[in-house]
Amino acid sequence: MKPRVLLVDDDAKILSGLRRQLHSRYEVTVADGGERGLATITEQGPFAVVISDMRMPGMDGATFLSRVRTSAPLTTRVLLTGQTEPSAAIRAINDGQIFRFLNKPCPPEVLDRCLQEAVVRYQAARDEESALAAVLTDRRVLDSALDPTVPAGDALAAELVDALRNGEFHLRYQPIVDLASERVIGVEALVRWTPAHAGLVPASRFIHAAESSGLIRPLGRWVMSAACQEVASWPALAATESLRVHINLSESQLRDPQLADDLQQALTLSGFDASRVTLEIDHGAALSEKLPQASLRRLCDRGMRLALCGFTDAALLRDAAERLPLAVAKIRRHLTALLPTDEQHSGVLFSQIVATAHDLGIRAVAEGIETDQQRDLCRERGCDLGQGYRYGSPVEAGELLSLLVGA
Ligand code: C2E
Ligand code: MG
Repeated sequence: MKPRVLLVDDDAKILSGLRRQLHSRYEVTVADGGERGLATITEQGPFAVVISDMRMPGMDGATFLSRVRTSAPLTTRVLLTGQTEPSAAIRAINDGQIFRFLNKPCPPEVLDRCLQEAVVRYQAARDEESALAAVLTDRRVLDSALDPTVPAGDALAAELVDALRNGEFHLRYQPIVDLASERVIGVEALVRWTPAHAGLVPASRFIHAAESSGLIRPLGRWVMSAACQEVASWPALAATESLRVHINLSESQLRDPQLADDLQQALTLSGFDASRVTLEIDHGAALSEKLPQASLRRLCDRGMRLALCGFTDAALLRDAAERLPLAVAKIRRHLTALLPTDEQHSGVLFSQIVATAHDLGIRAVAEGIETDQQRDLCRERGCDLGQGYRYGSPVEAGELLSLLVGA
């Protein structure tokens, strides 16, 4: 079935020209103004994409599209403007009113590409909505929302569903540095929740509830696309050619057959390069019988890298490396913390992990470096990279950007 597109313009010639151009690939409906456009959506919707002219008598394009946002929030909104001063359109993009604006006259290939991305975006929004609906109809979650005697985790999951709908999540980024040069070579995206009634909630407080309720899949999809969109827009990115973004994946996300498509979509929509993405996988998930090894290998073929996390044992790293093409091994922060006081045991384990990683051609990262002493011990033991409060806690993108300048 062809994707449905609504064109709104007060110029009949433009409408018929665009209709001719698009009709072979899209089911095109037209309206000659904002009021008529809104009525068409109510009577004939849903549409995957609405493209609207900016200057129209009665209702201008920006007002029309902001009303479409309320009445048909999943529909992707595109503004077609003949104005040379694009500031109103840029403001509308920043406010989330529209997805793109195009200048009139618009070359066919530009319109084509924009429409393809707009349709992908619509499909993603629709999938997201059905995933949320599925979580909401999960009896456990519903019961927990209605019954105060059920465990707090399930009630929390019901709150998380609303949080996702209301856009209460955002990302923080923690630097990963090269221990020798102390330059930032990557960032780990860590999700945060800011509920309307409370302060910032760290991931450790709600990830478990998101995992056990199944909400981790839609939340994970949001994380992937937000991280790619945000990092792709960093002005310092061009100057930091090797900078990578690390994205955490839970076991259920890894088993989700949609994972590869979701990642691809996040990359396509943001224009972010696959080779800048490292996927963090917990050792338990990496060794699970149900791990979809082939699809993870295909992601690596596209340029993404895999990092093994949360382990403290070299043998485990070797086992995981037999199953997956690992590029990075992140040593659990508990082991880093013990380095200054337990050289005999923890120090030896740490060195064995680094040696095994190097033997396998894998870079070792020490997590949880909080002090200069821990940093020095990690360096002495040959560890390549480090992460932890010594270098920076997870911060808003804006704060991190100043660290990247000169990275
Ligand atoms: P993780 O991947 O091991 O992330 C590192 C956690 O350690 C983060 O907690 C971070 O704030 C904290 N941390 C970083 N440096 C230090 C340090 O020097 N000392 C100490 N004591 N802690 C440090 P956070 O953000 O609460 O995340 C907890 C876990 O939640 C993460 O552990 C990760 O497994 C999960 N998580 C976070 N974001 C996501 C996400 O987007 N998707 C998924 N699936 N899981 C996520
Ligand atoms: Mg992690």
